[in-house]
Amino acid sequence: MDGKKQQKDWYRILGAEPYESQAELKLKYQKLALLYHPDKQSADMPAGEVEELVQRFIEINQAWKILGNEKTKKEYDVQRREDELMKNGLIYTVVHLEDMDWNDDEQCYIYRCRCGGEYLISKEDAKNTVSVVSCDTCSLTLEVLQ
Ligand SMILES: [Zn+2]
Repeated sequence: MDGKKQQKDWYRILGAEPYESQAELKLKYQKLALLYHPDKQSADMPAGEVEELVQRFIEINQAWKILGNEKTKKEYDVQRREDELMKNGLIYTVVHLEDMDWNDDEQCYIYRCRCGGEYLISKEDAKNTVSVVSCDTCSLTLEVLQ
């Protein structure tokens, strides 16, 4: 661990998988939100348990706030993927294609590596949902998301 704040696994909180559609995530969220809603609990529940349920309810809502929005979900997915891959130390970073520079001369997208080298990917190769590109100088790789 490098001290970077570890994000919560919002998918796990919703009992969902990252590949599930927005509609599926929403269903899971709604089900859980209903289940853990403070108003739905019986009045004679011990205070400690109520506290736990409220915490859970807050988490579920935080998860949906992030995953229910296309923009924040996309950001979170990148962050999550990055964390995963950085653990094995082989990847430089994860970027979206739109964050790369288009080079008209070379007819490819370029991203600069920390070593001074470059990651190059052609339009054709960038059509995959996820492409892994090697640095032309060092041994790191770049993951490009569509
Ligand atoms: Zn490099």
